[in-house]
Amino acid sequence: MHTADDIKVLAYYAITKVDDPQKVIKEHKSFLEECQGKGRIYISEEGINAQCSVSKENLENYRSFVLKNFPQADIKIHDHPVHPFAKLIVKYRRQLVAMDKEVDPLLQGVHLDAADWEKMIKQKDDNTIIIDTRNDYEWKVGHFEGALLPELDQFREFPEYAEKLKERYDTDKTQVMMYCTGGIRCELYSSLMLKLGFKKVYQLKGGIIRYGLENGNRAWKGKLFVFDDRMVIPISKDEAEPIAECQFCKKSADSYYNCANMDCNSLILSCPECIELKKGCCCQNCLETGRVRPFSLETVKTPFRKLSFEEKQRLSSKEPIGA
Ligand SMILES: [Zn+2]
Ligand SMILES: [Zn+2]
Repeated sequence: MHTADDIKVLAYYAITKVDDPQKVIKEHKSFLEECQGKGRIYISEEGINAQCSVSKENLENYRSFVLKNFPQADIKIHDHPVHPFAKLIVKYRRQLVAMDKEVDPLLQGVHLDAADWEKMIKQKDDNTIIIDTRNDYEWKVGHFEGALLPELDQFREFPEYAEKLKERYDTDKTQVMMYCTGGIRCELYSSLMLKLGFKKVYQLKGGIIRYGLENGNRAWKGKLFVFDDRMVIPISKDEAEPIAECQFCKKSADSYYNCANMDCNSLILSCPECIELKKGCCCQNCLETGRVRPFSLETVKTPFRKLSFEEKQRLSSKEPIGA
């Protein structure tokens, strides 16, 4: 039996000079292999970016190991009953955040903690914009009050989006508030905004995850999209109403599924009833002509099963005892 906090899901990064990335990768990998950790960890000369999970018993050991190597890392932790990652990847990636542009790491926005960030949102005037530096499908299921819908399908496209913002807003007057999931994207994107000439740039320290852990939902609406089997999670223990709707019936919903047509695999935002009715497919064409894997809410396994943990519980509680 799994309990809700058997597994600790960690997110952290550090931007710092790493002299011998290959050595750090090797040590990190064997440490996590030994304690059966899972996740995705990228290391380069510029630092580390990690999303991973370890058992409750291994948390303290792993935390000290990370802090010994990267004392500046702000480790954010969520509970989960099982590992949300299928495997362990620890590898070299030159760019910790995918972006086809070099940035000056010395140019930095003002880092705001959760409380100051919230205060600034509450006082927001016409000269302030809140930029969500994630993808549009992430924004859809959850975002800060007043945040602009990002006009990008891939955050790699951020530099283009930034150019558009420069045309639209006065770079001297506009206060730019920016945020992302864990904070690392804004480390680079804030630099880019400053380079483009924006004078007042603020970034949320530790991202949405840190905000949720410290401030609850307050200025936040909906849930958080994450790139693992959990897919969509609440950011705090506060109740979070879905802010998105089922793309088929328009009922409120915030679960994503991948289209059951293996050649399509596109993201579908749906309520459980509709996705079952559509047999897991995004459209009639996928259902009739695609290579469709069998779909059932009860039996589809991750990574294709994209129900939130809460939803799985809700579903399983509906099942008759003994089923
Ligand atoms: Zn629906
Ligand atoms: Zn499809």
